[in-house]
Amino acid sequence: MQKTGTLLITGGAGYIGSHTVKHLLKQGEKVVVVDNMVFGHREALDLDRVTLVEGDLGDAELMDRVFAEHQPEAVLHFAAYAFVGESVEQPLKYYQNNVTAPLALLEAMKKHGTRRFIFSSTCATYGNPQYMPMDENHPQVPVNPYGASKLMLERILLDCGVAWGLQSVFLRYFNASGGDLEGEIGEDHTPETHLIPRILMAAKGEIEHITVFGTDYATSDGTCIRDYIHVNDLARAHALALNHLRNGGETTAVNLGTGRGFSVREILATAEAVTGRPIPVSYGPRRAGDPPELVANPAKAKEVLGWEAEYKDPRQHIESAWKWIAGPRGGRYRSSGQ
Ligand code: UDP
Repeated sequence: MQKTGTLLITGGAGYIGSHTVKHLLKQGEKVVVVDNMVFGHREALDLDRVTLVEGDLGDAELMDRVFAEHQPEAVLHFAAYAFVGESVEQPLKYYQNNVTAPLALLEAMKKHGTRRFIFSSTCATYGNPQYMPMDENHPQVPVNPYGASKLMLERILLDCGVAWGLQSVFLRYFNASGGDLEGEIGEDHTPETHLIPRILMAAKGEIEHITVFGTDYATSDGTCIRDYIHVNDLARAHALALNHLRNGGETTAVNLGTGRGFSVREILATAEAVTGRPIPVSYGPRRAGDPPELVANPAKAKEVLGWEAEYKDPRQHIESAWKWIAGPRGGRYRSSGQ
């Protein structure tokens, strides 16, 4: 298949964005990253091969310049704030960054004729699960501003499709986890709130213990069940979503998950086995806004994109995350990002 041009990756210096950039470079794609470096890390990118534009998506003048210079064929849009709890406390920050700022990006796409958009959406657009596993027809009733902001952008992209022919793929991620198998790049968030990195930080002694949020859910062992999707599988799905659009595929929404759920206790037990270390645990109350179970029905991803998760065993996720956290960089980039 013909590779038709430069790819513009927003948020490409962040966790999922940087793993996708690495995958796309291996496939011979040409990549320009736009990142405001609030959560991005320069070291997450191979700057010999990637053009990095440090700046904000909401900067209309900058967007116009970037599009004029690089004439991107497609945009892969990762840049967003993604802390659910913070979005409840500071909704305007989320609507500004996740909904308003991308409008300048879309204006530049419209003006410069870029008609392909791959969007990092989320299962948080569904809200509280009404049935399990969740397919793409599940009602979208987000229960926090983060999910609402992602759903709003989905709607905006649909409207741009009608008005000026934008073709989009909404990739609704479940729980992204794991790291690069070569240990070169990984997850470095400040603050780190996600389960697997926090468990591994506890295994390493960086934090005193991990708190399990709730043991009284109506699940097999009382703890929450999630569908953990390896970041490399996410990266591959982006490349396949791009193929879909390059082949003339229609705008569509696709869940990205393994179709299998694991409880917090199961993840803890696996992490103890992988690291060979005891992990100090305390048990706390439920975290607000956590549904008991979130598991994807990934059938449509297979049908439409030819995608299926390769890393279905949480052991693989934990091993690759441990490689990064226990590796020479200790799970941290030296510079930039928060
Ligand atoms: N969790 C936990 N302790 C932590 C972090 C997370 O028990 O320190 C639980 C959380 O309640 C959820 C699951 O682990 O059921 C995954 O949470 P995470 O924050 O990694 O992802 P989210 O589901 O919020 O996207």
